[in-house]
Amino acid sequence: MTNDDRRRRVLILGGTTEARLLSERLCVMPRFDVTLSLAGRTQQPLPLPVTVRSGGFGGAKGLADYVVANGVDRVIDATHPFAARIKANASSACAACAVPLLALIRAPWTKQPGDVWLTAAGGMEAVAVLGIEPRCVFLTIGRADLAAFEAAPQHRYLIRSVDAPDEALALPGAHFMRGRGPFSYAEEIELMRNYGIEVLVSKNSGGEATYAKIEAARRLNVPVVMIERPFVALAGPRTETHSIDEAVDWLAHDVAP
Ligand code: NAP
Repeated sequence: MTNDDRRRRVLILGGTTEARLLSERLCVMPRFDVTLSLAGRTQQPLPLPVTVRSGGFGGAKGLADYVVANGVDRVIDATHPFAARIKANASSACAACAVPLLALIRAPWTKQPGDVWLTAAGGMEAVAVLGIEPRCVFLTIGRADLAAFEAAPQHRYLIRSVDAPDEALALPGAHFMRGRGPFSYAEEIELMRNYGIEVLVSKNSGGEATYAKIEAARRLNVPVVMIERPFVALAGPRTETHSIDEAVDWLAHDVAP
């Protein structure tokens, strides 16, 4: 059997809608043998139509070892734009193993007429931007990054995340709600109105599933503290795309590592 006859082994680094959609496309294409990797943080991940592995690899070296041990031919990094460590690890591991890497990254949201965005480089800067005056804050940054807001308990928080936040979080009076996108514009308007939301805190995650909150904030004249994407240190070349179609094309064609 030549290299070209063999099924191409693909490792998708996931935890995102894009990774799931890509795996749904690839699972019906017999020339690809796909494994999707999850960090293992979400308590009940949605079902996936390909082989799933879960849990960290043990840094860039662990990921490189996995790639070699499993004969992985291509890696697609479809992790969330804020998952900077795994992105850097994927870059290092693929460079070390000379395995081609594609980053399937959501395009960031861009400010539209009527948007009031106050940008912040991270959670602590977002807290500073919120200011001292107590406000009613809709916090939609995921449960892992909430600790910074303990420094500003004067605000009244509505916190929405896929899984419930850590119980030890010192935010007395915060209201938690579990929710997994997509959310509709009508739902977001109603929620923000009902809670009297005065400011929204969001990561610039991009994508459609959670964009309705940004549109709702625009409609309700609610300012958005927009947390910008983190810098990712790359150790080698990677191809980048926003498109699942292009990711499928990239897999189907030969590329230099
Ligand atoms: P991170 O800070 O970049 O990664 C931390 C560590 O988690 C990595 O070093 C790696 O452990 C492990 N890891 C992350 N993604 C993995 C994957 N797909 N498969 C196996 N191990 C993985 O990542 P994070 O921000 O904590 O995000 C964790 C997961 O949640 C990612 O899969 C991401 O796509 C998803 N997610 C993140 C966000 C967010 O806002 N950050 C939002 C939605 C979904 P080792 O070093 O041991 O390999």
